[in-house]
Amino acid sequence: MNFVSYIKKVDSEVAELIEKELKRQQENLLMIASENYADEAILQATGSILTNKYAEGYPGKRFYQGTEFYDRIEEIAIERAKKLFGAEHANVQPTSGSQANQAVYLSYLQPGDPILGMDLSAGGHLTHGSTASSSGKIYKAYYYGVDPETYLIDYEKVKNIAIKVKPKIIVCGASAYPRQIDFKKFKEIADEVGALLLADIAHYAGLVAAGIYDSPVPYADFVTTTTHKTLKGPRSGLILSQEIHSKKINSAVFPGIQGGPLMHIIAAKAICFKEAMTEEFKIYQKQVLTNAKTLADALIKKGYKVLTGGTDCHLILIDLRPNNITGKDAAISLEKAGIVVNKNAVPFDTQSPFITSGIRIGTPAITARGIKEKEILLIADWIDFVLKNINDESKISDINKKVKDLCKKFPVYK
Ligand SMILES: *Cc1c(COP(=O)(O)O)cnc(C)c1O
Repeated sequence: MNFVSYIKKVDSEVAELIEKELKRQQENLLMIASENYADEAILQATGSILTNKYAEGYPGKRFYQGTEFYDRIEEIAIERAKKLFGAEHANVQPTSGSQANQAVYLSYLQPGDPILGMDLSAGGHLTHGSTASSSGKIYKAYYYGVDPETYLIDYEKVKNIAIKVKPKIIVCGASAYPRQIDFKKFKEIADEVGALLLADIAHYAGLVAAGIYDSPVPYADFVTTTTHKTLKGPRSGLILSQEIHSKKINSAVFPGIQGGPLMHIIAAKAICFKEAMTEEFKIYQKQVLTNAKTLADALIKKGYKVLTGGTDCHLILIDLRPNNITGKDAAISLEKAGIVVNKNAVPFDTQSPFITSGIRIGTPAITARGIKEKEILLIADWIDFVLKNINDESKISDINKKVKDLCKKFPVYK
């Protein structure tokens, strides 16, 4: 597939950078847990003529003429999202996971209202009330964390905090929590304190769609997600909700926080939801999980401190303090070897967010290129070797050669 034939004619500078980035995506093991490879059909929709037109409003209630086909595309995306997740209502217009959360808050909260979310440093997301994000600036945010021994969510503690601070919305979901979240328990806590429940499954959505990670849809008032992480679609967002919240959600998205929807991306989301209903997608998600579990086990065997002792999803977290390596140094060395991960704070981290004591490793993207257990064991060996030879450039470059060979055997975007 030629991604830049037209761009080359008008802007060789950008075309060249896209080509270099394509090569980077082909020749490295992309193991950032929030990343994936959208397939060619999805890329084609995102690059389509649907970018040309305004379609403010919703199907059948637009503010512009000429939206006949846009209406149909958005209706299809909505129907598929509802079917895929078993939800009563879907809004497919949010442009990102952050905007999806922003819209949910706007739908029910007034400035200054209390919300309760997972602490960023415990694995939560910026939009769950961090003071650096609008969620923590506009609303009064309180936080729950994880247990210092088990690194698991302590639901009794969550309940006690909720009773104390009486949040209007409780947020569950995380960016760096490797275990199953008990959505039913969160709903019980929310009910007990009269709060609404927002489950943010940005990371887990693909696994949820495939039925291998418990779904919050039966419990939560709102479910938000990105569509580009495990779900493997275009870079975007989605809100699912119970029918009773549909009007408020829709007007919070438009005109609340957005103008014209990105209809080319909505078309790509429709395609993504169709693909996510296939048997092939289920098999893929199962392999994502198997690969993550295999990687966790292999690294534990090598003596690494894999938090919670494993994973129930697509990601693992490693605390590198026992190895005397910072997350930053580990991530930089691994990247030199062609294994791209991100530094990540571990719960109760003493390092700054720019240094951190851990790394987060995910399997969605490498699984999309066909990698299975056998190769995962090799990758675990390589990760271990690099972390043990973090200052030895020539040893790291040997691993990079092996990584490149492996990537050639499992090509992407041929
Ligand atoms: C990634 C993520 C988001 C934000 O998604 P963007 O599309 O980057 O705005 C929101 N919540 C959680 C839990 C995430 O992991």
